[in-house]
This record gives sequence, structure tokens and C-alpha cells, in this order.
Amino acid sequence: MEQIEQDADFIALSRQFKLTATELITVLEQKQKTGARTKVLLETVPVHKLADIFVASFEISFEEQLSMLDSVDLKVRLSKATELVERHLQSIRVAEKITQKVEGQLSKSQKEYLLRQQMRAIKEELGDNDDEDDDVAALERKMQDAGMPPNIWKHAQRELRRLKKMQPQQPGYNSSRVYLDLLADLPWQTTSEEVELDLKAAKERLDSDHYGLVKVKQRIIEYLAVRKLKPDARSPVLCFVGPPGVGKTSLASSIAAALGRKFIRISLGGVKDEADIRGHRRTYIGSMPGRLIDGLKKVAVCNPVMLLDEIDKTGSDVRGDPASSLLEVLDPEQNKTFSDHYLNVPFDLSKVIFVATANRAQPIPPPLLDRMEVIELPGYTSEEKRRIAMRHLIPRVLNQHGLNSDFLQFPEAMVKLVIEQYTREAGVRNLERKLAALARAAAVTVAEQEHNGLPLNHPISSPLLDSRISAGGGGGEVEMEVIPMGVNNHEISNVFRITSPLIVNEEMLEKVLGPPKFDDKEAAERVVTPGVSVGLVWTAFGGEVQFVEATATPGKGDLHLTGQLGDVIKESAQIALTWVRARASELNLASAEESNLLEGRDVHIHFPAGAVPKDGPSAGVTLVTSLVSLFSRRRVRSHTAMTGEMTLRGLVLPVGGIKDKVLAAHRYGLKRVILPERNLKDLAEVPSAVLASLEILLAKRMEDVLEQAFEGGCPLKPHSKL
Ligand code: ADP
Repeated sequence: MEQIEQDADFIALSRQFKLTATELITVLEQKQKTGARTKVLLETVPVHKLADIFVASFEISFEEQLSMLDSVDLKVRLSKATELVERHLQSIRVAEKITQKVEGQLSKSQKEYLLRQQMRAIKEELGDNDDEDDDVAALERKMQDAGMPPNIWKHAQRELRRLKKMQPQQPGYNSSRVYLDLLADLPWQTTSEEVELDLKAAKERLDSDHYGLVKVKQRIIEYLAVRKLKPDARSPVLCFVGPPGVGKTSLASSIAAALGRKFIRISLGGVKDEADIRGHRRTYIGSMPGRLIDGLKKVAVCNPVMLLDEIDKTGSDVRGDPASSLLEVLDPEQNKTFSDHYLNVPFDLSKVIFVATANRAQPIPPPLLDRMEVIELPGYTSEEKRRIAMRHLIPRVLNQHGLNSDFLQFPEAMVKLVIEQYTREAGVRNLERKLAALARAAAVTVAEQEHNGLPLNHPISSPLLDSRISAGGGGGEVEMEVIPMGVNNHEISNVFRITSPLIVNEEMLEKVLGPPKFDDKEAAERVVTPGVSVGLVWTAFGGEVQFVEATATPGKGDLHLTGQLGDVIKESAQIALTWVRARASELNLASAEESNLLEGRDVHIHFPAGAVPKDGPSAGVTLVTSLVSLFSRRRVRSHTAMTGEMTLRGLVLPVGGIKDKVLAAHRYGLKRVILPERNLKDLAEVPSAVLASLEILLAKRMEDVLEQAFEGGCPLKPHSKL
């Protein structure tokens, strides 16, 4: 012992041990106030014994005890003991820290609670009502009146109990509140009052709201008749397909009116996120219900007519596929328990009558299309448009602008001019806008001249209107939606007395709408150069006329294509060029010795307008015609348009959208239309007035098309047996 007490290492170790041990004792002393005796021990007992005493009082593992016993060497023993004491000290410190923290929090919330209780007491004393409590009570009453099914009522009550336990400042309070509000607002049972369906009245209403559309109206009446006989029958979902402005939305709202139900329109255009249909889960911040549930909350009845507008414009991306959730919505088996992620409880959609609209049926996913009955509404002829304008649009436009026929008259000839020279669309929406522009201009004149006390005899010349026109850059018309102004005609006519009505004339058209935008001569003028042909294409806006321009330049035999073309149309161009090259000598395009048509030259084909993307196989025959015209340096016959897919061997295959395409040709003032022979059956759908004004030429092979496309036919040598 004596020897080792002189050892420097031992002395250092002992000091370290004592230091740690003292620290431990101090900590313990603060907690239990029994450290004084142990402190005395520290002073009196030799260090090596102290180490044993300390270690013996700790709870340590069996292995550690064993290793302690095993260390006979004093220095090793001391250093092990120091380590154990240190560890014990650390663990006490950590435990202390944790307790302190917990205690701090507890006291904070207790403090808040106390303060709140005090505040409540003060409010009561002052006679202030507690808004929050009142609100929750009102919410509860609203929930009781909502008529929720039993299982949903249970769920709602659970949520309400949770809300009641929360403080308004707590994070989840608001979202829980908004959620319960939605549950209480949803029309679980509320229905609009069923009226006895009067088919005759419904038919009259459809007729008075819409001109023409005989077949469509007939189908709607059938639909209504079935509903009348068997109200809970699983009727198909009607889907109106057609270009914009042909009356799809207004037909759907007529169905609602006939059934005496409320009408709600849900726009699906551009919906890419499944959550738009089904909502976000409530765990997300800012989560909302989907558009359907939101729409139902707005109409506040569970049996409205719901229009799913532009169902063909839903896309899908990483955020899910809205179309697949629509499948569930439209399936009568599944929509009894439609689940919205936000709502989190099933909602019964089976009482809702769904009607859909689309510009084209093709982009609608087949399973969705399978659940709907497609009713096509092709565009109108200009004759039909004129009738629609005279009977429906003009009275409505006049009414919306606080005018009537005593103030403003639209002669039929002028309406015809507006249709032919200012609009070139399948529907009537732009036409309605143009008429509204004229009515606005007239309203200014009427109001102004009456104000000045002048008789209303001079058509359309008012300082206000003229300044509007000059500001618009020389007759530029401002495109505006028609907004009903809610003016009562009778009030106006009482205020203004006029001598003679304002009659729309050409001068007024030009002043208000600007110079004519379209004319019949365009197609004829563009084909004066060889290499240009006129095709008919089909777009979301109905049928359209599509020019094809081809030109040759010195080069190495390449084919250049421009005009934002898709793959299919590019391939059609390749096929067309190959076909023309293969028949160069037959078609008298090249002499026998220069058998290669592309020797030393490139061909460039362009589809104006360059900014509009184009695709599809139906430009095949137009491309060939344009190439033959280019190489033979002969002009394509004016007023002639064509459509059709061509095979590599020159067969002409049928294409879609014939009715729209023929109507487009008619709109553009074309006289002759070349169609694939197998499309003959589609002509049955084209109004006879249009057919009568056009010469329809049917082609089986490409040679037939060329025969009709060129003046004096196509000088074709006899068929080679290729
Ligand atoms: P869509 O939904 O097809 O784009 P809308 O139903 O909104 O078109 O119709 C545009 C406007 O044209 C509406 O004001 C509508 O009343 C009118 N309209 C369309 N077709 C007819 C028609 N056949 N008879 C009367 N008005 C029509």
C-alpha cells in the first residue's frame, strides 16, 4: 500500500475519482438531502475502499461486477470505478433535464387553462356571450337537421366530440370545424320537389329554346318518357358531342328544366389531378373536397341534373387519372357509395342525373365512353344559323341590352352578312357575340340621342360611339361575353320615346365589327398557283378547310414538311410522295429518261396555319393532288375540296367526321367535294339543303380523285400492272 501511495499515476487517479465522487454526492444531496454522511466517508475512508463502497451501491450488470472483482491491481480498479461513478452521474443529469422540460410544459398549459377559465368567468360576469360555444351549438343543430344516414351521423358526432374538446387556437380546430360544416351542408336527403313530368310541355320547351336539332330533341323526349314511366330506371348517361356553341349546355339545362330539377355545371376541362374529382385527404394542409361534392354542396339538393362539361378534356399525369374516378361516378352500381377522400364517408350519387358534353368522342377513354350514350350535334349550316339568330339570339340579345325591336332591327340580309363575313364557326357563339356588339353600339346611340332630345333617325353616328371605334384601332371589335344586364324593357321604353327604330345596315356592320373577316373567294384565290390544294379536316371546333402547299427547290431529293405536323400526317406525306414518284411517267410528270422526279430538287410541303398542330391520315389524297399539281404545273380546280386516306397502292380509304367536313366546305363557299366512296353512307346525315348546293364526287382510287381535281381530268396513261 505504501509503495503504491507514492505512485504518481495512482495519486492522479485517486484525485480524479474523488472529484467525480464528490460531484455525484453533491447532485444527490440536492435531491435527497442525505449526502452529508457520505461526504464524511469521502474525507475519512482510504480511496481504494471508497471505490469499492461506491461501486457496490450502484446497480450494475453482472459482467461489470465480475470485471470489478477481477481487477486486483489498484490502479485498474480505481479507473474502472471512476468510469462507473461518472456514468451514474451522467444518467442522473439527463434524467433531471427531461423532468425539468416536462414540468415546464405542463405548467404552461395549466397556466393557459387557468387564464382561460378566468377569462370565461370575467366574460360571464360582464354578460358577454361566448361566441365559440354558440357557434359549436349552432353547428350541432345544423348537423342534426342535415338528415345524415345513421352511420354518417355517428361519424360526425365523433368528430364533433373531438372538436368540443379542442381549444379554438389549437392547430386542428379550424380544419375540423370546416369539415363538420361541410357534413352539415351536404344535401344527404334534400331533394328538389318532384314535379309531374309533362312530356308535351317538355317538348314545347325544347322547341321554344332550340331551333332544329330534331333527332336530338327526339332522343331527349324518349329519355324523359322512360324516366316518367320508371323514375328509378337506370337510364344511360347522355353525352352531347359537338363543336363549341352548338347548344350542348343549353340542351342539358333544358332537360333540368323539364324535369323540374336544379342544374349544376361541373367543368372538367383541363382537370389532370384525380384529387379534383375525389378531393384531397384531410391530412393535407389546405385540403378540399372534389368538384362533385363541392357542386352538390352548392346546389343543396341530392338530385340535380349535373352537367360534366368537356369530359373529353380530362388528362392524366403523375397525380392520378381523373377519368378512372369518373368511371365510379357514372357507374350506377358504384355511385351509391361514392367516396371522396376529403369527405371520408360514402355519399350517394345515385339520384343525380348526369349529362356530359365533349367536343370529340375520340379522346374519351373507352371504358368511360362505354357508360355513356353519345349524341352528336354537328355544326349548323348558315341557313340554320340565320334562323337561330332571327328566332332565338336576336330577341335574347335585345333583351339583355335593354332594347327591343322598337329601338333596333336586324334585317335578315344583314344577319346573313354577319354569318358569312364575320364568323366562320360550326356553332353560334361568335355570332351571338357579334350581334351583342351591334346591340351595345345601338344602346349607346339610343341613350345618347334621346338624351340630346334628337329624334332617332340617323343611323349609328354618335360621338361616344365614334370615339370608341377610333380608340379600338379602326373598327376593332372588343370580344366580350354577353352579360345579362337585368334591364327591364318596359322601363326603358317609358323613359325613351323614339320616332323610328335603328336598322342595322352595312355601314353599321363595318363601323362596329370592322371590315369583313372572311369571304368566299379565299379558297379560289389560293389555288391559282400550281402546288396548292384544298383539304377538309376535322378539329375540336368542327370541320375546317385546310390548304396544302407544295413547292420544289434545287436540292438533293429531300422532303421537307412544316406546319406543326404529327407523325401520322408526316407518314401520309411520305406515302403521297412515293406514290407520285412511282407513277411519274404514267401521270406524264416526267419523261422516260428522267425517271427520278426528285433528281436535283427538294420538295417542301407546308400546311398553313403554321401555329396550329395537325395530325391524322385524312390529308392523304390532298397531299397527292398538291404534288401532282406541282410537278405537272397545272392548277387544281377552284372551289374543289377533298378528304380521304390513301394507301401506298393508291386505294382511297374512308375517313371520319364527313358531316362536319361537308358543312365546313359549304361554309367556305366551296362548290365541289371529293370524298372516299365508302363514306357515301355518311352523307345521309348532311342536311339536304347543303347537299343540294354542293357537287359531291366519290372516289375509289387515287386516280379518280385526280380525275376530278383537275380541269379536263387527269391525263393518265393506262394502268401498269404493278
Ligand atoms: P355549347 O355548350 O355547345 O358550347 P351552348 O349551349 O353554350 O354551347 O350554346 C351557345 C349559345 O348558342 C347559347 O346561348 C344557346 O342558347 C345558343 N344556341 C345554340 N344552338 C341553338 C339552337 N339550335 N337554337 C337556339 N339557340 C341555340
